[in-house]
Amino acid sequence: LSQLFRPLDLLGMVYRTIRQGLIDMEAMYKLIDTETEVADAPGAPALQVAGGAVRFNAVRFGYDPEREILHGVSFAVPAGKTLAIVGPSGAGKSTIARILFRFYDIQGGTVSIDGHDISAVTQQSLRAAIGIVPQDMVLFNDTVGYNIGYGREGARQDEIEAAAKAASIHDFIMSLPQGYDTRVGERGLKLSGGEKQRVAIARTLLKDPPVLVLDEATSALDSRTETEIQTVLRDISRKRTTLVVAHRLSTVVDADEIIVLDAGRIVERGRHADLVRADGLYATMWARQATERDDMPEEPGIEDMF
Ligand code: ATP
Repeated sequence: LSQLFRPLDLLGMVYRTIRQGLIDMEAMYKLIDTETEVADAPGAPALQVAGGAVRFNAVRFGYDPEREILHGVSFAVPAGKTLAIVGPSGAGKSTIARILFRFYDIQGGTVSIDGHDISAVTQQSLRAAIGIVPQDMVLFNDTVGYNIGYGREGARQDEIEAAAKAASIHDFIMSLPQGYDTRVGERGLKLSGGEKQRVAIARTLLKDPPVLVLDEATSALDSRTETEIQTVLRDISRKRTTLVVAHRLSTVVDADEIIVLDAGRIVERGRHADLVRADGLYATMWARQATERDDMPEEPGIEDMF
């Protein structure tokens, strides 16, 4: 009889193991959830944006509590001004953008927009106020029109086209077999890095946010595309508070303030000319890029300096 029950026992063991595994997995997800969960404070009001002034005050943050990435970062971007964040790879530049969007809660200090602590307002209202043009946008498997229109619910076709024109992508879209109805993304037409970035810009224009975060592409664009994109970005950032995570110094020359981040600390700050004169890390990076530019004007890769 025991022979007969052995397989059943075994089955029971397998069942229990799997079940335990599932429970463990659940526990693990709960842990991850609670660790990374960004929750609205009870009764949090919506963010009221006037000009969109951004302030980081002594911000400390680590993705993992054991390893702090930002060690007390402070800066202020007055409404309508542009701040450029530069520094070596891994310094924490993109992390600053993620914190402003409140993808993560910080461990020390405050982040505010127009004086309102971003952790005290609803995430929805915060995210509605900020437009992000990411390094490499992932497109929805849908039409190119949908991908732009996503910027604002209920956007009309003429508004989508106006945004596409402003982002210099309209003519390209019109040249596609089905125009705005052409399917893009993984299962549709693959767009180049520059085209994707322009779709992201058009989407952001439609959203029309008071605060803009430009996470500059690390991937190389050809120089004509890049100049075109720079012109569009300069236009759209003119009236908005803008934070540029810059990998190429040529894009930061006109910024109202530049902060140089190194291993999670601001080591220099000022305008371009001041920083070149100061002869520190920024001046070194600038000189190195200038040499690269002279040496290989047509070559991509200048941006790899950052
Ligand atoms: P780059 O110029 O290469 O894009 P960066 O200055 O933007 O770099 P961040 O992306 O802000 O750097 O990363 C800062 C540090 O945080 C790096 O050491 C990185 O390994 C770490 N980091 C980034 N994202 C995560 C994450 N999701 N989880 C854990 N660590 C992360």
